[in-house]
Amino acid sequence: MKIRVLGAFGGEGLGHRPSAFLVNDRLLIDGGSVTGALTVPEQLRIEHALLSHAHLDHLAGLVYLSETLGFCETGAAVTIAGIDPVITALRSNVFNNVLWPDFSKIPHADVPVVKYRTLVEDVEQRVGDVWVTPVPVNHTVPTTGFIVHDGATGLMYSGDTGPTKALWDAARGLTGIRAVILECAFPNRLAPLAEIAKHMTPDLIRHELDKLPPNVPVWIFHIKPQFAEEIAEELGRLADRVVFLEQDRTYSI
Ligand SMILES: [Zn+2]
Ligand SMILES: [Zn+2]
Repeated sequence: MKIRVLGAFGGEGLGHRPSAFLVNDRLLIDGGSVTGALTVPEQLRIEHALLSHAHLDHLAGLVYLSETLGFCETGAAVTIAGIDPVITALRSNVFNNVLWPDFSKIPHADVPVVKYRTLVEDVEQRVGDVWVTPVPVNHTVPTTGFIVHDGATGLMYSGDTGPTKALWDAARGLTGIRAVILECAFPNRLAPLAEIAKHMTPDLIRHELDKLPPNVPVWIFHIKPQFAEEIAEELGRLADRVVFLEQDRTYSI
């Protein structure tokens, strides 16, 4: 399984793009950055997008991707998949003909460039050429992490979350998990804010490590750009298996 980091951050800054990962060229895990990280031919190859939750830093790239698809006239389309509250929020608050056109009816309602798929929580479902299990995590709006597995190897993706448990429990007994992609948004001194906003700090990650599958690399994403150096320094004091994901790099598991 190939994972290309399109955006590694929890916000936007110079050289910092919001969170998005491209699996095997065809599946997005979140879509905070898409069009700013891929060529048009690369964008047209995307078939599915898993959406952890309906916050802008995870979906803004899907908005611009829809426009690329809308003008391409090749028949390319993306199916956005997530749990019911996430898909409902996207339909009513984003692709609603107010904030952005309803690309689920463009160019025609019967052959749109954006399709929706509601995923069932805690159930393994086929999405493209992988298996996906959405598991609820601990954030301010309905959010799931994802377990993504191709039958041989897989990864766990936290989405945005404060301390959580169900996702890590769901991985117990699974073989072939090669990476945990885990969020961290704030430095330790902003712990009170992290608690309200339901995000991680390096100290919270230290406690989370005991719940994670042992000996699996923990790849950190979603650092807020303005705190990048401070958080990197604090993360550097954690276990060796905790590393910060590099934007634009492709990882193989
Ligand atoms: Zn976020
Ligand atoms: Zn969020």
